[in-house]
Amino acid sequence: MSRPKPCEAVKVVVRCRPFNRREETMDNDNILDVNSKLGQITLRNPRASPEEVMKSFTFDAVYDFESKQSDIYDDTVRPLVDSVLQGFNGTIFAYGQTGTGKTYTMLGMPTDNERGIIPNSFNHIFTQISRSQNQQYLVRASYLEIYREEVRDLLCKDNKKLDLKENPDSGVYVKDLSSVVTKNVMELEHVMNIGDESRSVGFTNMNERSSRSHAIFMITVECSEKGADGEDHIRVGKLNMVDLAGSERQSKTGAKGERLKEATKINLSLSALGNVISALVDGKSTHIPYRDSKLTRLLQDSLGGNAKTVMVATLGPASKHYEESLTTLRYANRAK
Ligand code: ADP
Ligand code: MG
Repeated sequence: MSRPKPCEAVKVVVRCRPFNRREETMDNDNILDVNSKLGQITLRNPRASPEEVMKSFTFDAVYDFESKQSDIYDDTVRPLVDSVLQGFNGTIFAYGQTGTGKTYTMLGMPTDNERGIIPNSFNHIFTQISRSQNQQYLVRASYLEIYREEVRDLLCKDNKKLDLKENPDSGVYVKDLSSVVTKNVMELEHVMNIGDESRSVGFTNMNERSSRSHAIFMITVECSEKGADGEDHIRVGKLNMVDLAGSERQSKTGAKGERLKEATKINLSLSALGNVISALVDGKSTHIPYRDSKLTRLLQDSLGGNAKTVMVATLGPASKHYEESLTTLRYANRAK
């Protein structure tokens, strides 16, 4: 197995969602222009003078509002999951302002052609396993949430705070995190549904919580195969699929007290992630600041080294969100 080239290790793509009904009735302008062939997106500042009106960015791929879930899976995610099946680690992030399609991209809807990255990976993994010969697979799943820099198990009712631990063999791990052995797609879907249900508990609506927490679905694929020497060879790949907290600037929401403290933590962990990824992409940094947040510490062995990373930055088309969209594109641009 050859090492992925450094330039292939991190991929950044952008996805634009369509107008929603409210934006349509409010007579918002579309400020995005997508050129999928060139991987280019141009943002029009609705309030600027004509000479500084356009800003263009280029990414590994750009998906417009007509893109399908399967487009994103097939050209951006599939290669990463294939490498997990070969024993490498991989992480997919959805990054963007609340309401731009992170959860739609990661989870999607139950209908066949609207399934998101997470359920599509279930089919992919078990299809590949069913085609394999002379190999034994063990697939395990965990689902957790990082909220206010605290880790919680989404598969466990008691909802207590869990600790990150480190050991020389297995690296950083979450102590006492549930890990469910799954034998088929249905069992993985069951795990996903249980976790999604507990994500919304205790909040008046799902968006309120999901906009402030990171949810990580982890699949570990262990493969054992008899080598020519007659010995069993085991390789393990880990797939992390992360629906990040909303990237909106929390200062703008007028939060105070506890809410402001929480907001500061969200912004810190997103900027810690940006710093880690840009240090990895840069390739010259001798220090990668994994320890600056729970998220980057936990994903340390799945970011950099032989691991592959995909960042999907999500955007809405409306002029009202110009500033936030520009911030998202700048963040994604730094991660390239
Ligand atoms: P986020 O998780 O970033 O807060 P959501 O995924 O909840 O955003 O998306 C907000 C709304 O927009 C949802 O109703 C979702 O179904 C819809 N939506 C998002 N992206 C798309 C898309 N690409 N195509 C169609 N609808 C979408
Ligand atoms: Mg969401």
